Amino acid sequence: MTVVIKLGTSNITHKTGHLNIRHMEQLVKVLSDLKNAGHRVVLVSSGAIAMGVGKLGLASRPSDMPTKQAAAAVGQCELMYIYDKLFSEYNHVVAQILLTGSDIEHADRRANFQNTVGRLLEMGALPIINENDTVATDEIAVGDNDTLGAIVACAIHADLLVLLSDIDGLYTADPHRDPDARLIERVEAVTPQIEALAGEKGSGLAVGGMATKLKAAKMTWEQGIDMIIANGAEPALLYDIMEGRPVGTRFIGNRGEGK
Ligand code: GLU
Repeated sequence: MTVVIKLGTSNITHKTGHLNIRHMEQLVKVLSDLKNAGHRVVLVSSGAIAMGVGKLGLASRPSDMPTKQAAAAVGQCELMYIYDKLFSEYNHVVAQILLTGSDIEHADRRANFQNTVGRLLEMGALPIINENDTVATDEIAVGDNDTLGAIVACAIHADLLVLLSDIDGLYTADPHRDPDARLIERVEAVTPQIEALAGEKGSGLAVGGMATKLKAAKMTWEQGIDMIIANGAEPALLYDIMEGRPVGTRFIGNRGEGK
């Protein structure tokens, strides 16, 4: 199975912006094992800006563009260093790919991207993708990695997109505030009623939230690709996902006529 797995900033960093070593080590171990089992894994990893914030000793996530981009430049380097180091322990080769929205819109560049990912997967490498934050200004940015994950999954015709987050899935209400909130296990289509459940933005160092995840679900639905939102705090859930057991919220891709 070809799976695109998106890791949120909160899955791999502490609130300080420093690396969450325990989470990262567990994630890399499970992902390496999935590759050993024969799956083709593509990672979309956030965390560059947060790790730059930690490494540069900034008090909080910057809001101005040049500081954000500087933090991303420092953090992306650190992020890939850690991935390379940890995946090497399990004999896996990682590759860095940085994209912006305009790379995907441009037919030639999009084809180059597809060819490169295809070849990397054939060679057994693990592509790790992030937005090219140092050049992506608002006009050309995808803006969030949930959407980037969906773009990547569609571009490479993946079988599945998994968005790991700090929440178990989509709920009928905000589970932090409403004790009756119930996890929705299966969504057939992102209707306006489902969109109304999106609520507010997530954690302080990250962008995105449920709204961007539902946007991603609409994109994968169109292409007949399933998408799962699951809690990245328990990386072993990825085994259940790959073995077809119900985890988090599964959005069923459109396999209607013409698909
Ligand atoms: N590209 C951003 C980063 O690496 C994260 C974007 C997102 O989390 O959606 O820090």
